Amino acid sequence: MSDLPRPLPQHAPMTQFPVSHGELMVGDIRLSTLTARVGQTPFYAYGRSQLRQRVMELRQALPKKIRLHYAMKANPMPALIGFMVGLVDGIDVASAGELKVALDAGVSPQEISFAGPAKRDAELHQAVAAGVLVNIESFREVDVLAQASQLLGLPARAAVRINPNFELKGSGMKMGGGPKPFGVDVEQVPALLANMGRSGLQFEGFHLYPGSQNLNAEAICDALQQSFDLAVRLAEHAPDKVRVLNLGGGLGVPYFPGDQRLELRPIADQLERLLQLAQTQLPQATLVLEIGRYLVAEAGIYVTRVVDRKFSREQLYLMVDGGLHHHLAATGNFGQVLRKNYPVAIGNKMDAPASQVTSVVGPSCTPLDVLADRMLLPEAQVGDLVVVFQSGAYGASASPHQFLSHPSCLEVLV
Ligand SMILES: *Cc1c(COP(=O)(O)O)cnc(C)c1O
Repeated sequence: MSDLPRPLPQHAPMTQFPVSHGELMVGDIRLSTLTARVGQTPFYAYGRSQLRQRVMELRQALPKKIRLHYAMKANPMPALIGFMVGLVDGIDVASAGELKVALDAGVSPQEISFAGPAKRDAELHQAVAAGVLVNIESFREVDVLAQASQLLGLPARAAVRINPNFELKGSGMKMGGGPKPFGVDVEQVPALLANMGRSGLQFEGFHLYPGSQNLNAEAICDALQQSFDLAVRLAEHAPDKVRVLNLGGGLGVPYFPGDQRLELRPIADQLERLLQLAQTQLPQATLVLEIGRYLVAEAGIYVTRVVDRKFSREQLYLMVDGGLHHHLAATGNFGQVLRKNYPVAIGNKMDAPASQVTSVVGPSCTPLDVLADRMLLPEAQVGDLVVVFQSGAYGASASPHQFLSHPSCLEVLV
C-alpha cells in the first residue's frame, strides 16, 4: 500500500456552476451538450449568470459611491466585455488593442482609463483622439500627450500613476514599492505635476496599483489607506482639483487548496472611512477600484477531453487535448513560484466518487504541461471531459497558443 501514489491536498468544493444528473451545467446547458454546440474541445466557457452574480455581490458589499471598473487585461474576450459594460462603471485598458475592444463594445470614452508601461507614441495619440483618461507613467508620456493634444486640437485627459513607497503585502504579484517599471515614484511626482501644468494637460487625478491576487483583507485595507494618504499629500502639488482617485484593487480569488475567500467586510468598512475623509480632504474626487480577476476568474471554466489514459509505475495519467498552450496559469507557469493544482473535475462525472489519484497532462512535450498533479478524481476514460475551474481570468489571452502548433481553443460566453 505505502508505495501507491498519494493524493496532494484537496480544494474546497467548487459550487458556482450547478450540477444536474452528474453533469456540470453552464447557463442551464449540460456540459456534454455545450461541448457539442461548441463543436470542439478544448474551449473556455464563461457564465453570464456567474459574472453578474459576482459583480452584484461586490456592489452589494461595497459603499454605493465607490465606482467599480473592470480591468480587461484579466479577460479581454469581446463578447464578455460587451456583457461587463452593462454591469460596471468603467473599463480599464492596458493597450491600444484593448482600447479598441472597449470602444467597439460601446463603452463611453469618459469611462475608459488607460494604464501600462511602455505606451507607444501611437497609442498615446490614439488615447487622446478617443478622449479617454491616460494614467501617466513617465515624464516622456507628458510630452507625447501634449504633442498629441496640440496636433489633434483635443484635450489630453491625464492622471498620474504613482509608484508608492509601500508594498501590498502578500500579493501574488507586486506592482508598487521599491524600483518598479510601473508609475512614477512618489518622490518625482511633484516635478511631473509641474510639467503637466506647464504642458496644458487636463489633470484629473491619481492612480495607484500596488499589487494583485491578494487574499488578505487587512493588507488590502492597509494599502488603501496609504494610497489615499499619498494622494492627499500629492494633491497639494497638482495643477487642478483631484476629480478621480483610482485606488487599484488587488482583490484575489481562491485558486489553490487551503486558500480562503477574501473577506469583503473589512474592505467595505475601510472604503466607507476613506469616503468620509475624502469629503473634506479631496472633496471633488470620485473613488474608483479597478478589478480584474475577482470579477471574472470564477465565472470561467476550461474544458478539455481525455485522449489517452495510461499508468506509469502505478501513477495514473489522463492525457488531454488541452494544456499549457491555452492555459499557462493552470499549469503553474504564469508567475507562480511553486506549482499547485487549480481545482479540476471530470465535468461529465460530477457525482462519481473521487477514487483515483490522477495526474492530468497536456499534449505539449514538456514536463511543465501538467493540469493536475496527483489529484483525487473520479475514474475517467478516454472521451471524458476534464474541467479546470477558476479559469475566467488570465487564461486564453495569457497563454502561448503557438507552442507546438496544436489547434487553438475557442471561447464562449454562455
Ligand atoms: C493587471 C492589472 C489589474 C488587474 O489585476 P487583477 O489581479 O486581475 O485584479 C488592474 N490594474 C492594473 C494597473 C493592472 O496592471
